[in-house]
Order: sequence, then structure tokens, then C-alpha cells
Amino acid sequence: MQLFNTLAGKKEPFSPQDPSRVTMYVCGPTVYSYAHIGNARPAVVFDTLARVLRRRFGRVDYVRNITDIDDKINATAAKEGVSIKVIADRYAAAYYEDLAHLGVEHPTHAPRVTEHLPQIISMIERLIAAGHAYAADGHVLFHTLSYADYGKLSKRDEQSLMAGARVEVAPYKKHAGDFVLWKPSSPEQPGWDSPWGRGRPGWHIECSAMAEALLGETIDIHGGGHDLIFPHHENEIAQSVCAHGGKVFARVWMHNGFLNMAGEKMSKSLGNVTLVHDLVKLLPGEVIRLVLLTGHYRAPLDWNEDVVTDAKKKLDRLYGALRELGEVTPAAGVTAPAAFIEALEDDLNTPMALAALFELAREANKATELADKARIKAQLLDAAALLGLLQKGHEHWFSQAPAQAEGGLDAAAVEALLAQRTAARAAKNWAESDRIRDLLKDKGVLIEDSKDGMRWRYL
Ligand code: AMP
Ligand code: ZN
Repeated sequence: MQLFNTLAGKKEPFSPQDPSRVTMYVCGPTVYSYAHIGNARPAVVFDTLARVLRRRFGRVDYVRNITDIDDKINATAAKEGVSIKVIADRYAAAYYEDLAHLGVEHPTHAPRVTEHLPQIISMIERLIAAGHAYAADGHVLFHTLSYADYGKLSKRDEQSLMAGARVEVAPYKKHAGDFVLWKPSSPEQPGWDSPWGRGRPGWHIECSAMAEALLGETIDIHGGGHDLIFPHHENEIAQSVCAHGGKVFARVWMHNGFLNMAGEKMSKSLGNVTLVHDLVKLLPGEVIRLVLLTGHYRAPLDWNEDVVTDAKKKLDRLYGALRELGEVTPAAGVTAPAAFIEALEDDLNTPMALAALFELAREANKATELADKARIKAQLLDAAALLGLLQKGHEHWFSQAPAQAEGGLDAAAVEALLAQRTAARAAKNWAESDRIRDLLKDKGVLIEDSKDGMRWRYL
């Protein structure tokens, strides 16, 4: 297996340090509002990677945290006049619900910062004791000059480090690049007791401490979106390496590219922030998942109407192939084809893996022998499961109402009209039968009379 390591700047062979399990930490959401479609990209990408790793190495201990201490959460809680727990619980629940629509499985652990204050404080104490951090004015800061490799992940020199961090120049800092491990809270702000007074942790130390608590000092894979390379991951490395006497923190660093909306960056000021919560009411979650897997995870991905339409058509083709295979029992012991697995094990090349999946769909549509059908069905289902696709059965796929269609018919209404049409045909009332067919067509429902009887689907 090969993975692109941001730290090395190239693809490298991958195997876990402990052959019996892979450890992976992915930075999760800050739960102060609903996740947008860009936030869904790392969730889907690393969910897929976890499936591939599990197949190859057996066990994957996958941690995706919930950041529930953050100034944005404080601001939302203050605005609503509720505790930060109310806000965090609400949006963490929404995050799970939204991602479930996209077929994203639960990680092994989903730690919350509020449950790890002792571990965070202990890590800060160790950093101070080792001379890598200092307390000043109620704050504790990491001293970046104390760590010679600072900047290695983001490949920045000191000047660009400063510019990128947009660091606050504060009188209590020894060096402008030093970043906060702990900061004081005012009486009305959420805070926790610590050796430095009542306060709260900085964002970066939260991840370092939770990774250590759940996965140990050196982890195999650390992931997140491209925007996290600097300063977040650069700072996580500095903290963890320095708290662990120089040990490697993450052996492989993986970053997904950004998702843009119709050629533009998603931003509140442009008004083009699309929430997963809203989108799943309009589209089957599987369409969203497929769009996110259509491009290679490291490349930027554009979200627009065409990619959505294209993904729907692709799923029609895949589910159509399954329908073609009918009630055939999948051949026992047959798994995804080698070309498909090789693509995924080559730095999660999902576009190439999808090409292999469509090749199988083509074979399915041509197959006539029962043995071939059984083999192809087993290969198709096993391959699709690795991508988190085709999990619902073709009947379900073809009976989903396109929710965005005004005045559209749900499956029950379609079935009722079809029963009327069947009755009309039995009575040789062809005019009535055609009228119902045309009515359904107007509503976006296509009827196909085939040798196996009649079937229907939404256009
Ligand atoms: P946040 O809650 O802002 O910390 O983001 C959660 C995750 O979503 C991080 O891994 C980010 O890198 C990632 N992310 C945020 N915006 C985008 C985007 N437009 N495209 C891809 N990933 C994103
Ligand atoms: Zn993190």
C-alpha cells in the first residue's frame, strides 16, 4: 500500500508500526453550527481510507475528535444564552445524523475536549518542564524557537510562518511565533481550573492530548483538510514531539484538497455555504458521497450541478446493473477485483477504483451465464462496500422520490397509479392505460414494460 505523506512530499509505502492494528487520528468538527459540504469531504475520504486499511491490515483504531471547547462555541452559546454543552451536543448530534446519510461509519473513538482536561493540563506541564513552553500573564505559550523542526510540515521559513499564522503580537510572548497552549477565561467565559488559573486550552493542544490519550505517542496516520497543515498540524507536531522526548508524532500526514462551490471558495460573505443538513433533504446521501469520491482526495473538487447530475446517472448505472443481475445469489468467497483494490491501495485513487467498478457494471449488463452473474454480483457488492456505496438495494434506489421536484409523487402514489394502470390494461382500456403512463411521465416517473414484467423509476 502507498500513501502520499505531506511531510515527505511524496508517496511512500505504508505499513503500520504495530502489524496488528493501524492507528489514525483525523481532526473532527468544531461543533458550533452545522457541517457544510466541505467539512463532509474529510469525513468521507477518511471513512473510505479506514475501510481500505481495515481490509488490508485487519484492525483500525480510528479517532475523529469533537472540538467542544472553542471560542466560536462560546460565542454561539452566549448569543443563545445557553451553556456550551447545549450547543456542542446539538451540533455533534446533527453532525452524526448528517454523516450517517453519507454512509460515514462511526470512528472507533470520538473524544471530546471537555472530557480530556486532565490530559491536556498534564501535557502542558510536561512541555513547561522540558523547557518548550512558558507561563506568562495567565497564558501558557509554546516556545517555537525551542523546536528546531518547527515549519517542516508546512515547509515554511520563519518569515512566512509569521505571515501565515497572522500571529498576535502580545507583550507576554517571548517570540511572535509562539502559540497559546492555555489562556485565561473571564468569569463569564467557560473555564477550568489549572495550575495557571481558571482558563481554557488552545485548539492545537486539544488534538495532541486526545491523540496521546487514545492512540499513544506515535500514531500511523494523521489526517485533515489541507487548511489544517499550518498552523494546526505544524503546532500539533511541535507539541507532541516535544512532550514525548523527540519521538515521531505521526508517521504519515494526509490532507484532503478543498471543495469549492461552482468555481468559488465557499464563504459566508459569498453566501454559497451549503450545509449537509440541507443538502440531504434534496439529494440521496449516496449521491453526495459519490461526488466526494469522484475526484482524487488530494485534488481540489468543484461542487456544481453537473457533478451532482453525473453522480446520479452513475448510481443509476450501478444500481441498474444490480437490478439486471436480479435475484442471483452472489458467489461465495469472491471479493472485489484486484485492479479495484490496487487503485485504492495506491494513495486512495478513488477515480481509478470507480472506473473498475463501472467496468464490472458493464460486465453485469452483458453476462448471460448464471455463474458469471453470481461472480460479478459478488465482486460488485464487495467493491462498492469498500467505497461505502450500493448498500441499500436497487429497489430502494429506484423508488426514491426526487425530493426537489415540485408536486412530485412519492413511491406509494406511484404504486397506486400503477395499480390503476394494471387494472385498466386488464380491462383492455388502452386509452386509460396510456393516460396514466403519460401522467406519470409528466411527474418524472418512467415505466418500463419488459419481459420480466413492468418496472418503474424516477427519471
Ligand atoms: P472545522 O470544523 O472548520 O475545523 O473543519 C473540519 C474539517 O473540514 C477540517 O478537516 C477542515 O480542513 C475541513 N474543511 C473545511 N472546509 C473545507 C472545504 N471547503 N473543503 C474541504 N475540506 C474542508
Ligand atoms: Zn487537530
